[in-house]
Amino acid sequence: MLVNQNISLKPYHTFGIDVKTKYFVEVHHIKEIEEALAFQKQNHLELLILGGGSNLLFTKDFDGIVMKIALKGIAKIKEDEDFVWVKAAAGENWHEFVLFCIENGWGGVENLSLIPGTVGAAPMQNIGAYGVEIKEIFDYLEAYHLQSNEIQCFTNKQCKFGYRESIFKNEVKGQYLITSVVFKLSKKHTLNISYGDIQQILTKNNEEPSINNISQAVIEIRSSKLPNPKEIGNAGSFFKNPFVEKIHFEKLKSLYPQMPVYPVNEELVKVPAGWLIEQCGWKGYKNGDAGVHAKQALVLVNYGSATGKEIRDLSEEIKHSVLKKFGIALHTEVNIV
Ligand SMILES: Cc1cc2nc3c(=O)[nH]c(=O)nc-3n(C[C@H](O)[C@H](O)[C@H](O)COP(=O)(O)OP(=O)(O)OC[C@H]3O[C@@H](n4cnc5c(N)ncnc54)[C@H](O)[C@@H]3O)c2cc1C
Repeated sequence: MLVNQNISLKPYHTFGIDVKTKYFVEVHHIKEIEEALAFQKQNHLELLILGGGSNLLFTKDFDGIVMKIALKGIAKIKEDEDFVWVKAAAGENWHEFVLFCIENGWGGVENLSLIPGTVGAAPMQNIGAYGVEIKEIFDYLEAYHLQSNEIQCFTNKQCKFGYRESIFKNEVKGQYLITSVVFKLSKKHTLNISYGDIQQILTKNNEEPSINNISQAVIEIRSSKLPNPKEIGNAGSFFKNPFVEKIHFEKLKSLYPQMPVYPVNEELVKVPAGWLIEQCGWKGYKNGDAGVHAKQALVLVNYGSATGKEIRDLSEEIKHSVLKKFGIALHTEVNIV
């Protein structure tokens, strides 16, 4: 196990902020995780588990040890007539895993194409896009308990998945390292083309819905709407779409008849945070190298040498203005370190 010292984290996260970590280690096997944790405990260091760094904003140098998860391997572990159970190690790239499933004719992940990051981080916030969340195809995961050094299983129910939420962001935050995830994927597919512009793209390309065509359509839509982190630093949606009480929404609707809304339950509706931010005039805003993307107001961007603090300060200003104009509190989706 090689422990690097004082290295820049710029290449290891998609915001591209130039911060340093005191120690950095890449782990490929459980044994290396054990060695890295022993080193962390001996030296009383704070630990940060890192996947693809696509949901993180670093606001300062990290005075601890960053453990980059590089566990690899994908295997079919079980199947029946209708389903296949596939186990993927935490360090596998999420989009490559999606493509692998599609190549094998396994369905359920196609709407989640092109989401950056790793398999291991995907359950952390129950990643979702185009009408699908990973909880719908998630069977169970294995996680290393950082205190007891034991590997434990978490079923779908035990993960307590919600909208961009799981038990790992709440009750057991900071206690586990996810080592692998098992997905239950379909052989006979139920396709979801209800969301976004998927149907439109299929019609334009004169294609029948299939797992491959849906994946290609999602890739096309995402590539046209979202900034590529290799070109402009970002971490996708900076805020979650807020849930708003129906009574409050009805009042707002009379003032802003164009306000889009999605039903949640009898009491709540979900309002697109991007729309709220745009209405406050932030879309395309730029101050130095920190800004709000010109095509998608939900995405905060680093045009080059913005600091994490500048991005965080901008996010606070945005939150403040949305609260003032609409009386709606925005919550951050990105993990701020
Ligand atoms: C352009 C762009 C588009 C995006 N679109 C979407 C989208 O459509 N839907 C969506 O849900 N998200 C989206 N995201 C956010 C992001 O891709 C996901 O949250 C992704 O799952 C993060 O994976 P990661 O490996 O990069 O995690 P990281 O950013 O490395 O880590 C995220 C958090 O998980 C923890 N963590 C990482 N790996 C492990 C592990 N193995 N065990 C325990 N903890 C761990 C980290 O400590 C951190 O707290 C987007 C991001 C970008 C840049």
